[in-house]
Amino acid sequence: MTALPRLHLAVQKSGRLSDLSRDLLRDAGLRIQHGKNDLAARVENFPVDLMFVRDDDIPVFVSDGVCEFGIVGLNVLEEFALGRPDARFEIIARLGFGRCGLRLAASDRIAYGGPQSLAGARIATSYPRIVKRFLDERGVEATVVEMNGAVELAPRLQIATFICDIVSTGATLEANGLRVVDSVLESEAVLIRTSKPLAPEKLEVCENLLRRIEGVLATKESKYIMLNAAERALERITSLLPGADAPTILPLHGRPGHYAVHAVCQESVFWETLQQLKKAGASAILVMPIEKMMM
Ligand code: ATP
Ligand code: ZN
Repeated sequence: MTALPRLHLAVQKSGRLSDLSRDLLRDAGLRIQHGKNDLAARVENFPVDLMFVRDDDIPVFVSDGVCEFGIVGLNVLEEFALGRPDARFEIIARLGFGRCGLRLAASDRIAYGGPQSLAGARIATSYPRIVKRFLDERGVEATVVEMNGAVELAPRLQIATFICDIVSTGATLEANGLRVVDSVLESEAVLIRTSKPLAPEKLEVCENLLRRIEGVLATKESKYIMLNAAERALERITSLLPGADAPTILPLHGRPGHYAVHAVCQESVFWETLQQLKKAGASAILVMPIEKMMM
């Protein structure tokens, strides 16, 4: 029997996406072998090898086909793609972690009334192409100053009036006397796949890996909801259940005209939804996580 061809999946070696990327793969049932080599690891029970690299290299490897898959932030991916119009990758899934935003910020003393306020200004950033696109789309001319780190210092050093950087809580900005004035990009980690043609024997392995990961993503959002309601409330209640088709409705023993409703909701279930369900006449509402799902 010939061995299955092994795929290569690039993940961040050490940084904000490292643990979350590995968690996702573990949830997909991949057992990552830990050896002495910290640049790569073998998956014991699936024909995949993980490559641990800097996040900036991930789009390059996937686009060149050196790795079939990669997990990287949309911010890094877009900056790469804008500089490489011939890049060969496709985004397979948004992964729901590593969420952050690329924001424009300036000192409290600087007035900002929309992108036109950037005209003629200097903007420091590690994302020059994304910022340039933002400006071009709005017909604004400004000078983009590329910095590879410590972008928050640029206004204090009088290198630039505005900065554009990744912000999650805003604490770093605040510590540097800066405030967010506009939003340039919403980012999260994404799974990408090379668009370079794959050897036919690799295709099936690719499909299997994707199905596993899609399964994990589906269960993350999905919840199993159970509630009780009177018959007259059922129509309204079932219309409120997010992303649930064909819920199960069972008569309640000893309570004529009352039913139990069970449903798999394939979208997030927020407290607001529960309040609306309650208002619509639902009682004994239970929301439970789903461990595994195969549709
Ligand atoms: P590397 O050494 O791999 O080049 P890095 O220092 O460029 O790492 P990290 O700071 O580890 O990158 O961030 C990796 C990615 O995590 C970012 O590109 C972004 O997509 C995401 N991210 C999520 N939250 C934040 C945040 N608060 N600050 C920066 N990045 C964040
Ligand atoms: Zn990086």
